[in-house]
Amino acid sequence: MSAIRTVRQLKEVLAKEIAAPGGEGRNEKILDILERLDKTDVTLSILTETLIGASVAKLKKHSDVDVSSAAAKLVKKWKSVAKASHHPASAPKKEGPSENPRQLKRLPSAGSSEITIETECLPDLSKDLNESAVKQLCVARAGEVEDAINSWSRGERKTYTEKVRSLVFNLKKNGPLREQVILGQIVTEQLPKMPPEELATAEMNKERNAQAEKLMASRQLDWEKKNEGKINEICGIKGDLLKASLFTCGRCKSTKTTSTQKQTRSADEPMTVFVLCLNCGNRWKC
Ligand SMILES: [Zn+2]
Repeated sequence: MSAIRTVRQLKEVLAKEIAAPGGEGRNEKILDILERLDKTDVTLSILTETLIGASVAKLKKHSDVDVSSAAAKLVKKWKSVAKASHHPASAPKKEGPSENPRQLKRLPSAGSSEITIETECLPDLSKDLNESAVKQLCVARAGEVEDAINSWSRGERKTYTEKVRSLVFNLKKNGPLREQVILGQIVTEQLPKMPPEELATAEMNKERNAQAEKLMASRQLDWEKKNEGKINEICGIKGDLLKASLFTCGRCKSTKTTSTQKQTRSADEPMTVFVLCLNCGNRWKC
């Protein structure tokens, strides 16, 4: 029987064993299958076509230590097979011409051969490769950002240091921003010029707005305290339209205000006075 047929059959049996209700006997059978897979000469094309790597990789999390360690050992072995095939110079002789990666790429194999190697068969390997690539890119981007800050600050030491601090803070906190910079979606020259609200995360902006609102509210309260006499005076006066200039606008300090009062609560309670600033349109009630 050819190696690929063996692997296909073992994969099927393995799937059945994994799906069946557990027990000591099951683990024994799974171990037996793993052992037989280990004895089979599995090449990159077999890995690619059968996706056996994905099936076995799942067993790395198996509750039985023997099963999980056997699975891990096997996946590691197959990874080195794939790695060797990626670098033809170091590939073992026995792989033969059919394992040439160029030829492999040309094989359509239901249009999935490349995706298979990266995502199904060897997720860990592709993660390793991605990580080192991302690392390199990050280092390169960090250099670019530093250059950008340097030319932006025109050699002023303090400006430079402050900007570096601010950007380091924001890039650490703001994952999406970091990603955009790394991927080049934000031109590094632009980064030092970006306003704080664009550098901040949505959460940081929310906090900042809340603080601004708090400040506004406390100012409003100060104004109400200062104008308490006037407010009391107004609230005692009856009539729909009150004289302008009795109120001072808390926002723009204009006295061009007009007010009306309405009975919003029960009849025995004082009316609510609605004030409108004619200068800036600010509205409030008292
Ligand atoms: Zn106003």
